[in-house]
Amino acid sequence: MEDVPEPSPGPGEVLVQVGAASICHSDIRVYRGQKHARPGVIPGHEIAGTVAALGPEVTDLRAGDRVVVYPIIACARCFFCRSGQRHRCPERRTLGYDEHGGLAEYLLAPASLVSLGHLLPVPVDLSLQRACLTEPLACVLNSLEACGMAVGRSLAIIGAGPMGLYHLLLARSMGAGPIIVSEPDEGRAEVARSLGATAAIAPREHDLPAAVLEHTDGLGADAAVVTAGLPEVLAQSLACVRRQGVVNLFAGFPPGTSVPFDPNLVHYGELRLTGTQNAAPEQYRRVLQVLPHLPRVDAVTTHRFPLAEAAEAYAVRLRNEGLKSTVVVMEEAP
Ligand SMILES: [Zn+2]
Ligand SMILES: [Zn+2]
Repeated sequence: MEDVPEPSPGPGEVLVQVGAASICHSDIRVYRGQKHARPGVIPGHEIAGTVAALGPEVTDLRAGDRVVVYPIIACARCFFCRSGQRHRCPERRTLGYDEHGGLAEYLLAPASLVSLGHLLPVPVDLSLQRACLTEPLACVLNSLEACGMAVGRSLAIIGAGPMGLYHLLLARSMGAGPIIVSEPDEGRAEVARSLGATAAIAPREHDLPAAVLEHTDGLGADAAVVTAGLPEVLAQSLACVRRQGVVNLFAGFPPGTSVPFDPNLVHYGELRLTGTQNAAPEQYRRVLQVLPHLPRVDAVTTHRFPLAEAAEAYAVRLRNEGLKSTVVVMEEAP
């Protein structure tokens, strides 16, 4: 924890008083040196807050507006930006990695972010503590859309950490099912069952592909999502899906990972192996519409800390205690 000068907004900038910022597994990967961030940058990219002050030339926001941050600065001109996929912009800079993020009392939203419309309005019936989950849920929506999830589509989820559980909750809210979760930790498997998994099984003691076949009339799942970046789960997830099914690599893998797999499975089975990382602004907007109606996402946030104890919020994640940690910077009036 460090004191820094309170920022004041210049032209085009917006000062956001942070309400809540949640800790992502990728923040822990940065802490461990497995993922790059600019030295000295304030971390935190899952951010919800209230507009505290506006710099000159900002006309579309007002002090007091509750906002979620789309934490990406993009060029707005490249192929990806023009097709709405700003998270794939080659010039992308991300708050919490390249620019200061939200684990602070105030976030000075850069003009380059504000002008792109990346401060998104929070619906009145959504608390900032839940709104800060927009970023992880939008990543999950991007993943589920890559998987073609819809009413009655079956899904295998590898891993019941926070991201696996968010896949479960959002897929259920989209009408998907059956949903089979693979999770070695019995406590987490139990949480998955309580949040609507058709089955949650320990992959080391049980045959996961066999369990998926059992719950899908011998067909295999329409899709499988890998939320744990372990090399050994790729072959397992390919074995979980039906012909023409989708396997989405949602988790990051350690740098330099290489995994042997049978290309004929993909060729003769017409499987699709895809990846997703982050999400488009339009997906954040849609998540903000559904979040007020997903009260059970709050159950995944097992730890809440005031800003003064942000270091402890990291420590519980490093010890892998519970599921999601949120730093509540400013309590909202009920
Ligand atoms: Zn995140
Ligand atoms: Zn771009």
